[in-house]
Amino acid sequence: MSGRIREESIAEVREKALIDEVVGQYVTLKNAGGGSQKGLCPFHDEKTPSFNVNPSRQSFHCFGCGEGGDVISFLMKIDGLTFTETVERLAEKYGVQLKHEEGESRDERPKGPPRGKLVEAHRVAQEFYAEQLLTPEAAQARQFLTERGFDGDTAATFGLGFAPRGGEDLFRHLRARGFSPEEITVGGLAVPSQRGGSPYDRFRGRLLWPIREASGETIGFGARRIFDDDRVEAKYLNTAETPIYKKSRVLYGIDLARREMGRASQAVVVEGYTDVMACHLAGVKTAVASCGTAFGDEHAKVLRRYMADHEEFRGEVVFTFDGDAAGQAAALKAFQGDQNFVSQTYVAVEPDGLDPCDVRIKKGDAAVRELVARRVPLYRFVLSNIVAKYDLDRADGRVDALRESARLVSSIRDRSKVDAFAREIASMVGVEVEEARAEVRRASQRRPGPVSGGHHAPPEEELVAERPARQELPSLRDPRFAIERETLKLVLQHPMVIGRTTSDVGPEDFMHPTYRAVWEAVAAAGGAHAGAADVAWSGRLRDQATDPAVASAISELSVEPLPLAKAPTADYVLQHVVRLLELTTLRRIDQVKSKMQRTNPVEHVEAYNRMFGELAALEEHRRKLRDRIVGSQ
Ligand SMILES: [Zn+2]
Repeated sequence: MSGRIREESIAEVREKALIDEVVGQYVTLKNAGGGSQKGLCPFHDEKTPSFNVNPSRQSFHCFGCGEGGDVISFLMKIDGLTFTETVERLAEKYGVQLKHEEGESRDERPKGPPRGKLVEAHRVAQEFYAEQLLTPEAAQARQFLTERGFDGDTAATFGLGFAPRGGEDLFRHLRARGFSPEEITVGGLAVPSQRGGSPYDRFRGRLLWPIREASGETIGFGARRIFDDDRVEAKYLNTAETPIYKKSRVLYGIDLARREMGRASQAVVVEGYTDVMACHLAGVKTAVASCGTAFGDEHAKVLRRYMADHEEFRGEVVFTFDGDAAGQAAALKAFQGDQNFVSQTYVAVEPDGLDPCDVRIKKGDAAVRELVARRVPLYRFVLSNIVAKYDLDRADGRVDALRESARLVSSIRDRSKVDAFAREIASMVGVEVEEARAEVRRASQRRPGPVSGGHHAPPEEELVAERPARQELPSLRDPRFAIERETLKLVLQHPMVIGRTTSDVGPEDFMHPTYRAVWEAVAAAGGAHAGAADVAWSGRLRDQATDPAVASAISELSVEPLPLAKAPTADYVLQHVVRLLELTTLRRIDQVKSKMQRTNPVEHVEAYNRMFGELAALEEHRRKLRDRIVGSQ
């Protein structure tokens, strides 16, 4: 096979190859009338199909980007093959015997074995491994499958196999079948020996999943550790990058899922090979998984291509993330990716944190389908993860939650979505919608760079930054704590006047941690009235304080003058104490109101009514406190 392929052979390939069949392995095509077919262009990003295939003319054309040609140029472009490789591949597929020009030496293809050879070696390897799964040596691999609810038929359906432990079995098998050492090593089935010996098998003593292209061709393997004495620690090994295996694009299960994806306009992205299997067995036939790498933009493109739907891209992609930190980080990353994609992205999280494979084992097939059916929009999942970090029963927790979620929403490039997200935040955090909108506006203004258009993305650390470590305590002179401060001054400086007025006061009435500690010191010493007869009262308290900040606050509060010309009256003291109690009641009211805003009154009617009753009681209590002040004046 030294000469150039003859023109007549090339013409025969063009004639026999079915362009709609070849293109259909990469693009979901729908009838577009007049004998032509339509789909989403694989060569540019689009939402409405402008990629046309005309089988009778054996040509394709994209009205979006202008790409066009015949079946050979399509394959060359989409798979990055040379002309000769493409013709060879099609000839193989459609049974054309290629004739070459004689005596003319040429080699226009790059160095290395042709794709067809690498794929063929993988096909033979897959069959070899599948046979090995039935041998006694593979007992543990079979047991692994049985424990996960997969029987022999399932193993055969998915083409599972077992790599013998010897290390040369596959290599020898392929050599006996006529493959050259180069054809075996370039595709990643064996690794060249560094000591000059013969190559050794890449996978040894592992359970294998063949990784296939949409066309069904095996192009690599995923391999799971089975034996405790496996010298390779990694639980999973995958084929490394090879001329035919690109991990940024490869999706396990795409060969099984692609048709249903086109029909249902849905794709389910799970994390592992066993999850893909479990989903398909349970009836979720659109499940795929990325292999040995995180799901990325290239994978997203592949899915969109197969989910072509009607005139517009309306498909949905459902991720089954773990509820754990890694899953949340993955979700956040997806959220920051392609925004068109994000708006059709959903998350299915199993409440017990089980992956689909475990769900199927423990709860059955229906539970797997329900898991996917219970999906929530990605943005809601990400926002609720943020909000969940904060204590929403506290006013400052709500402020922080609002601020961080508003910052994330302000990073969304699609401005039309922002308002809906602001509403979402408002109901999650329990604040008014207007407040959430204002916070999003403030966050947008703080954000540097262009907001609309362009590809400006906020630096990742800004978004994933954890809440700052507990900052220093707020100033003791912060006006928010003025009543706490003045009340404690009265307690320390005028214990005889304050007397038993403070019998209703408790530590929860002090929001500043230092003031609360001062109050606890007072209470521990017997309360304010215990200091009435003790001239050295405040000095004693200070000496007993173990925290220097508390000791220092006690000194300060004991000497700072009251904002009064004369000694405080009983009314003056009462007003402070009652106001202190009133503020606590107001905080409780806020808390209940916020909780009610976060509660659906229809779904949780009992809880809602209980809160309603609590709110009424608090309002009544507050009214009585106000009456005490008015009555004292
Ligand atoms: Zn195009």
